[in-house]
Amino acid sequence: MKNESPSRGSGQWVVPGSFLGVIEEFTAGSGTYVDKGKIFAKVSGRTLLDMQNRTVSIFPAKKGVKVPQVGSYVVGQVSKLQSKTAIIRILKIGKDLLSGVFTGLVYISDASQSYVDSIYDVCKAGDIIRAKVISQTNRLNHLSMAERRLGVLYAFCSQCCHLLEQKRYKMQCANCGKVEKRKTAEDYGETNISDLGEEYESKGPAQKPERT
Ligand SMILES: [Zn+2]
Repeated sequence: MKNESPSRGSGQWVVPGSFLGVIEEFTAGSGTYVDKGKIFAKVSGRTLLDMQNRTVSIFPAKKGVKVPQVGSYVVGQVSKLQSKTAIIRILKIGKDLLSGVFTGLVYISDASQSYVDSIYDVCKAGDIIRAKVISQTNRLNHLSMAERRLGVLYAFCSQCCHLLEQKRYKMQCANCGKVEKRKTAEDYGETNISDLGEEYESKGPAQKPERT
């Protein structure tokens, strides 16, 4: 990988928060913001570098390219667990695949409607989950799984990586028999894994009409 800021060339795909350069180098153009002398992308889109004026700006992505917002339903994969938090790589917003990389966090207090002792009883690394963005404090996507339709959609055995089957009160590996715990969505295992998230749009709650 080249050790250069992304702004060295035009046309690079960036997402909100992407580092573009420093103010000694460039002027911050449209679609960007400056924080502590560094220029970042404010919107998703492609970089436009005006070398004559040393200005970096963002040509915004066309409408329909989504970024997580408060209230968005997302589908993601658990990348790791840290004490009371699950770190989620967000793969989809509603039915739209994402172009950028977004990370979300599920705190144990937002993981279930009922009290849970340990984040390890909620999900494990590799699981596919559905969650809702409840806040974006400090530019982090805080997610909740505390609704019946939210939670783990697919879970994998921590011993042999086989898909876990949901029995009445437990999750069991059909391959090795290991029993595990999860906070599952009510439609656990029913979603077509290749179009995860799409069914939510058709069966989910009516969306608020966008203000125009
Ligand atoms: Zn197993």
